[in-house]
Amino acid sequence: MLKLLSDLVGIREVRALIVFYTLAAVLEGVTLALLIPFLQAFLDDPASAGRWLIALCVMGVLFLTLQTYTMLRSYRISVYDVCDALITRIANRVLELPLGWFNARREARIASAVSREINTLSHIASIVVPAIITAFTVPIVMIIAVVFVDWTLALVMVIAVLPLYWSWGRMRTAATEASEIETAASTTAAGRLIEYARLQPVLRATGVVQRGWGKLDDALAEEDVAVQNALKVKGRPAMAYATILQITFAVLLALGLYHVLNGRLDAVAFFALMVIVARMISPLAQSVLYASEIHNSVVALRSMHSIVGAEPLPEPSAEEATIPTRTAVSLTNVDFGYDAGRPVLKGINLEAAEGTMTALVGPSGSGKSTVLRLIGRFWDVDSGCVEIGGVDVRKIPTHELMAMTSMVFQDVYLFDTTIRENVRLARPDATDEELERAAKLARLDQVIEALPHGWDTQVGQGGLKLSGGERQRVSIARAFIKDAPILLLDEITSALDGENEAAITSVMRDLTRGRTVFVVAHRLSTVRDADQIVFLDPEPNGGPAHVAECGSPDEFLAAGGLYAEFAEASSAAGRWQITS
Ligand code: ATP
Repeated sequence: MLKLLSDLVGIREVRALIVFYTLAAVLEGVTLALLIPFLQAFLDDPASAGRWLIALCVMGVLFLTLQTYTMLRSYRISVYDVCDALITRIANRVLELPLGWFNARREARIASAVSREINTLSHIASIVVPAIITAFTVPIVMIIAVVFVDWTLALVMVIAVLPLYWSWGRMRTAATEASEIETAASTTAAGRLIEYARLQPVLRATGVVQRGWGKLDDALAEEDVAVQNALKVKGRPAMAYATILQITFAVLLALGLYHVLNGRLDAVAFFALMVIVARMISPLAQSVLYASEIHNSVVALRSMHSIVGAEPLPEPSAEEATIPTRTAVSLTNVDFGYDAGRPVLKGINLEAAEGTMTALVGPSGSGKSTVLRLIGRFWDVDSGCVEIGGVDVRKIPTHELMAMTSMVFQDVYLFDTTIRENVRLARPDATDEELERAAKLARLDQVIEALPHGWDTQVGQGGLKLSGGERQRVSIARAFIKDAPILLLDEITSALDGENEAAITSVMRDLTRGRTVFVVAHRLSTVRDADQIVFLDPEPNGGPAHVAECGSPDEFLAAGGLYAEFAEASSAAGRWQITS
């Protein structure tokens, strides 16, 4: 845990914190130990207790001062080094990571990292580390002190250390095991609950709601059982630990009394010793609570590491960095796969001249979107190269590549703010006139006119207060505002109704004018305007795709071949609308 923590917040601070807390715990132990001679002196001969009292007070003040200083320092580390610095590091890393890194699972991990995990980690420096150091350092100091009073009592304490250490280890393993059991069950139950909420129309229509939905009931019942099992798993070693502690205390009490009765130990020393042992047991007993906390912290630290440790795509060095002056795009002998051993594209060669529109077509899963992602450098190719204006995209600094390309996807995500702010995101310094012009070109003006608050309409989380076609128009207006010379359009009309599709298809003609455009399309109406069509065909049995045919729409249809067959099949399936 400490290694993970120091990787994240800097080893110097963590070391300083451990040293200060250990010193504070030693001072606490010494202060407690001084109670023995003080109480002895006080009860035997109160006049001689003065010097012990002074020593006790000095140690006590030193302990409290160091403890307070260390606590304040640890709160500063928790707030600035752990919480603020980690959020900043995550935000910076998110900006550096290739777009291909992001998927639903990783996005959920980021959301959880900056909310739940940060909260857990904020306790490490200020609560977990001090509690554990105190729980284990104070008893060690006490054992050393007890040696001077009676070595047999110290021996009992030393013997107890081994089983205590063993059961502490068991508690940590059990906390991990219990957490896995609980997490698995609660994830399943949460998944079923979300499914239940999403499927309400189907469940109501089929009368399932009245009868009860077995899958959800089973998942909730399994979660109950899992929680009970987790409690059992955690409970056993915790019980063992607490029992060992109590037995140790009882044995010390019995042995101490025995020594008092035999005259080996005086009653006052025995009384003082028992007061201190009882005081020492309390942090040890409380450390049970921190076994789960340590586990949660380790899980949170690993999750943070998986984000801040993720590798961004290499940036070109200052000597290598080149900014292309032209916008022709070419792929030469490109091989690519997302996962090792599962190639998606093989030997892809294609060239798109500057200012032309290339349509990518092919069966589902043939790698059309992947080609767009490689041009936008979401990932790097496995072999071959992708070039813009004759420059390998790996040599173009990321911010330049981003400035040169606009991407419009089928699923549009809008920020929970106004339409105006969502469009302006593409170019924050755009004037209101430029926004109006972009809206007109994107046919967004019709949507804005129909809304009571116009440009200032709040679109809701993800833009869900707008329809799919309306969101798409906002995203196209962004592309107009950004005015990048290369456009990557991924199936932007495939999920739209006839009216929206017609509006967006007509917009595309304006949008693509004078730019180098790649479009993944399923509709012939989109493909018809392309200068060239590239047909990607995967090898049988899920093998990688290659460029099977390439040519202008007329050449394609005249030549028959794969594309013509595909167009016909799609049209027969009602997907293609062939218009002349
Ligand atoms: P569609 O027309 O259905 O959208 P497509 O031709 O655009 O498909 P791609 O989305 O490029 O195909 O996917 C090509 C292959 O790569 C598919 O087998 C897909 O499962 C796989 N794939 C796509 N994205 C990822 C990813 N992020 N991680 C792993 N595999 C992926």
